Amino acid sequence: MSEKLALAQNLDAQDELKHFRHRFFIPKREGKEVIYLCGNSLGLQPKAASEAIQKELDKWAQYGVEGHFVGEQPWWQFRKPIKPLLAGILGAKVSEIAIMNSLTTNLHLLLVSFYNPVGKRTKVLMEAGAFPSDQYALETHLHARGILPDENIIEVAPLAGEHTLRTESILQAIEQIGDELALVMFGGVNYYTGQVFEMQKITQKAHEVGAKVGFDLAHAVGNVKLELNAWQVDFATWCSYKYLNSGPGGVSGIFIHEKHHHADLPRFGGWWGQIENERFLMKKGFKPIADADGWQLSNEPILPMALHQASLQIFHEATMEKLVAKSNWLTHYLYEWLIELAGKHIEIITPKNLPHRAAQLSIFAKSRGKELHNFLLKNGIVTDWREPNVVRMAPVPLYNTFTEVYQTAQKVAEFYK
Ligand SMILES: *Cc1c(COP(=O)(O)O)cnc(C)c1O
Repeated sequence: MSEKLALAQNLDAQDELKHFRHRFFIPKREGKEVIYLCGNSLGLQPKAASEAIQKELDKWAQYGVEGHFVGEQPWWQFRKPIKPLLAGILGAKVSEIAIMNSLTTNLHLLLVSFYNPVGKRTKVLMEAGAFPSDQYALETHLHARGILPDENIIEVAPLAGEHTLRTESILQAIEQIGDELALVMFGGVNYYTGQVFEMQKITQKAHEVGAKVGFDLAHAVGNVKLELNAWQVDFATWCSYKYLNSGPGGVSGIFIHEKHHHADLPRFGGWWGQIENERFLMKKGFKPIADADGWQLSNEPILPMALHQASLQIFHEATMEKLVAKSNWLTHYLYEWLIELAGKHIEIITPKNLPHRAAQLSIFAKSRGKELHNFLLKNGIVTDWREPNVVRMAPVPLYNTFTEVYQTAQKVAEFYK
């Protein structure tokens, strides 16, 4: 047995989180469990999902509309026990979280509240190469508000010859735009490179120049340790179907820092944001709940939220501290072993070290990238391909193993042999 394989097996044997793997359905190919490294794209299904959904279906069958008010988790307040499960993942107070809509919808709603161009302070700073939906949201949002996107959306790009952004470049850009900067809207982790941005430093610098700061945490939530409240982030949103394993198109959420709960921010309202003791009076006049729930528009999508709850329960048991610690080692070894075994043929564009990388590595194939991806898939290793030449791999601490990481590095080497 190779030394690396022995080490991997040893690490698995000692892993105190190893039993969590059995709480998930691992997809199979030709009757064999695959090595699933795509949890950054669509997390795996918790086995508790169907029971959680079935429970609400049964309740609906039995009670009909009464389901809103009966049982241990009445639908009209279904979110209440779910929010504390998210609080630990986000480093947020329960009052700062609302569970609602989907990610891109929430981006628009948050821009309504936090993008407030005044005088010459009209500019938005974002990362170059952000996820397309974020680019489209900003472009169309500014356009709808009568602001020219081309002149007002400023992108920070990596220096020539580099793949990822230097924190100094981001901070410098913020300083340069200065009193023209209305908003910094950044990813927490870039979807393509896997780079983790230094959210606390970005927030601090943006506030120094008088701008608001929001993060799209699609690839960060459930992946890196977040402290949104302590970092003073103004707002954030995320999706729940990537690292949070809450199902395709699963329900999203928003974070609104408590300092904004009593500010009279512009917003798009709906009846589910109305203060609860007046909501069912069905009267004129919007009075928002004085916390993040005041941004809710519609009544809660119970089935996706039941699934979300079942999944978040697993995070609660495992704890982010332990997950992040294991994740760091899993990805560390994936990095080391890929470079040792196949370093001539690939370049890893994700930063090597903390705090700049988390679970995901983005492998730039010097040749035959698409073929590499297909070869891995044929051998039961599920990664994801991103044009023009990147294979993304994300070992996930809840269900991936060190042995899988070793086998993946070895298969990459075998492909190039
Ligand atoms: C996955 C992802 C999205 C997807 O948006 P939806 O509205 O959930 O379809 C948006 N932004 C980023 C950064 C993502 O990673």
